[in-house]
Amino acid sequence: MVIISAPWIVPIDIPVIQDGGIVVADGRIIDIGKRDDLVRSYPQSPETSYSCVLMPGLVNAHMHLELSHLQNSIEPLPNQKFTDWIDALITLRATNEYSREKIVETFTAALHDQYNSGVVLIGDTGNEDYEELRRLGDDFQPKVLRMLEHLGPNREACRIALEKLTQLDTRISVTGHAPYSTAPELLLEIKTRCNQLQHIFSIHTCESREEREFLRTGSGCFRDFLEKKNSWDGVFSFSESGFAGTIEYFDHLGLLDDKTLLVHCVHVSESELPLIKERGARICLCPGSNKFLDVGLAPVEQMVALGLLPALGSDSPASNKVTDIWREMQLLVKSHPNLEHSAILAMATLGGAKALRHEADVGCLSVGKKAKFIHVSSASLKRCSDVNQLIKELVSGGKPTEVEWV
Ligand SMILES: [Zn+2]
Repeated sequence: MVIISAPWIVPIDIPVIQDGGIVVADGRIIDIGKRDDLVRSYPQSPETSYSCVLMPGLVNAHMHLELSHLQNSIEPLPNQKFTDWIDALITLRATNEYSREKIVETFTAALHDQYNSGVVLIGDTGNEDYEELRRLGDDFQPKVLRMLEHLGPNREACRIALEKLTQLDTRISVTGHAPYSTAPELLLEIKTRCNQLQHIFSIHTCESREEREFLRTGSGCFRDFLEKKNSWDGVFSFSESGFAGTIEYFDHLGLLDDKTLLVHCVHVSESELPLIKERGARICLCPGSNKFLDVGLAPVEQMVALGLLPALGSDSPASNKVTDIWREMQLLVKSHPNLEHSAILAMATLGGAKALRHEADVGCLSVGKKAKFIHVSSASLKRCSDVNQLIKELVSGGKPTEVEWV
């Protein structure tokens, strides 16, 4: 048993504790409170003191590790359509310029970067089943929750994907890509499998205006794109459905529940947000990716007003210059200045843990959580004299100069 103390403890689920301590035994937190009280309650326990802020590890709830080698490879053009970026990504991945070794080397480096920036848990989406990622295991830090993504934009692709699904190892989580690329039949099958195996069903949702247009009218650049790729055979029949958007469509399919993670949620109509709450589905915001692709701003204030706690994700290095959750918080402060700083910090920690259903282990510093948390420090953090200043600095100051694992 050991007492770990610091001038500031930011537990997330309860108010900040000044001159606080955390008691740890057998790898779990067994008590938290004022340092002096804990020293009196646990007189035999040794104490380790830190100089600045103790807080939970961050959660990156949505990234694509296997695209790490594509960092800064695609520059979006002004006024480009969303499908132009998709086309550029498909073309780049198809060129095979990158060896398997290079891909593994860059995602391994990306994992180290995440760890060094204080990330304790990652929701990772990918198309290839990399054994290197699958065998990381529960004790690897950061823990990687990998989801193998499926696409099926036409009947034949859908049939092949469904066949593959039946042969897949049940330890592998699967997920659908997006409403415009994965046929409803395939989405349903994936969600059914996720529910049977208690896996998270994570999917790109309401990311672009073009997606909403496709869902509402059945036309626009997504239809043009599928036609251009000879992939239009009527598996999507949105023109007759009259959905207000993707959320209504997903609800119609029965995809929304508390194990569904809706990634992006930029173009959610006002009537759809309460539906997300009602179904208990989770949201992951990706401010950096949304800014890079210029898709617009998510209605985060409305989400918070409804009592939703979104997660944060960096998304892929092919759609974000820097995959850093500290920067995602900074971007959210700038784009949504009315949000409370403490709400943003909760998104980067507890929101992510809940979205990936790991709140029993990580996300906040309460009794019972794993003793995997971080100490952060910088000259600006050390200058903070009250709680509001401290939280503001944590969410708007970017990655602190010192981030160390306790
Ligand atoms: Zn993504």
